[in-house]
Amino acid sequence: TSFGFQTVPEDAKEGLVKNVFDSVASKYDLMNDATSLGVHRLWKDQFVADLKPGRNGPLRCLDVAGGTGDIALRILDYAREKYADRETTVEIVDINAQMLNEGYRRFKQTMYHNTPQVSFHEGNAQELSEKFADNSYDLYTIAFGIRNCTSVPAVLSEAYRVLKPGGTFACLEFSRVNNPVLSTLYDQYSFSIIPLLGTILAGDRTSYQYLVESIRKFPPQPEFAQMIRDAGFRTGTDVDGGAWTDLWGGVACIHTGVKL
Ligand code: SAM
Repeated sequence: TSFGFQTVPEDAKEGLVKNVFDSVASKYDLMNDATSLGVHRLWKDQFVADLKPGRNGPLRCLDVAGGTGDIALRILDYAREKYADRETTVEIVDINAQMLNEGYRRFKQTMYHNTPQVSFHEGNAQELSEKFADNSYDLYTIAFGIRNCTSVPAVLSEAYRVLKPGGTFACLEFSRVNNPVLSTLYDQYSFSIIPLLGTILAGDRTSYQYLVESIRKFPPQPEFAQMIRDAGFRTGTDVDGGAWTDLWGGVACIHTGVKL
């Protein structure tokens, strides 16, 4: 790329992604806080609050690439705190056992531990096993995970398959900053500061370089919205902003779609 990183060949991507998350699993939360200055927490809060889980009764949710359980925990807390809902369930799927382990450890300290409200499953977003049946979930979430997948269309088509008709697909992901000034600052930050923090805090520069690079390669908002529609979902229109919501001018973005 123009930033002088080696580009990762697509066929090597899956193994590499696994290594990246093996290497960052235990430092994952610390690094998230350090690299985003804590902002990822606010984005995740908004992501879940916008979905209002529990408002129309308990939901069956699948949180894919759910790793450390950040989204699952917020869904369960939101439903319980706002709607006294203790029946919503979240199944967490991740390709990486160590990330799931971190999630399990975190949930151990919550009231959801050992209840049917949460469960952990090793699996690939691109090819969910038959354990995840067709037409069976009300809500599918994927946060900061889809850009790590080799085939985004495969992930979307699996999401479509497992959702019930009328069910919601929701994705939180880093995206494109449109403002040129903000964009320059952001480039400086992500290509120098993030790998540096990776080195200092986690002793691992390559993994964080990969993460930054993967953000640049992910399709911009309108293109990703079209991919969601191509998978069969209905989204709002790009013109009225209904297909996505930019966070921080596009540093991150929420896309949603409804299965017809
Ligand atoms: N959703 C969590 C969050 O927002 O904090 C974790 C995000 S973390 C940046 C990305 C996660 O995606 C990792 O846990 C990684 O193991 C997982 N992942 C990468 N490729 C995957 C795939 N093909 N299928 C399922 N999970 C995958």
